[in-house]
Amino acid sequence: MTIVCHKCGYQNGDDYNFCAKCGAQLVENPQISSQIGIPIVTESIKRRLIIISYIITIFLSWSGVIINFLGLKSSVGVIGFFGIFMPFYLIQAKDPKIKKHGYIMLILSLVGLTLSFYLLFYS
Ligand SMILES: [Zn+2]
Repeated sequence: MTIVCHKCGYQNGDDYNFCAKCGAQLVENPQISSQIGIPIVTESIKRRLIIISYIITIFLSWSGVIINFLGLKSSVGVIGFFGIFMPFYLIQAKDPKIKKHGYIMLILSLVGLTLSFYLLFYS
């Protein structure tokens, strides 16, 4: 059995990892090889980090609202500003998925902050 190079079309023996003619990597089935090992780990870590980011963002930027509903009059809601840093950081990511979540978090934190300040000054 031979592996045909996807770059130059040269037929390599199946014990070759790289093309003998052009040096391109010979992957028999790139889809399967990307489903095992490191890529899947990074994907699940990424998902976990996104969830943690959501929790931190919501916790920080909605703190003023939560404090108000607990009946406490406090300017602690100012810490909500820190809730904006995480989304701003994520928006700069190259991964479009992380970027998208960054924008959602930014909207969530801005809504939380606006509500916090509204409740602080008008209630
Ligand atoms: Zn080749």
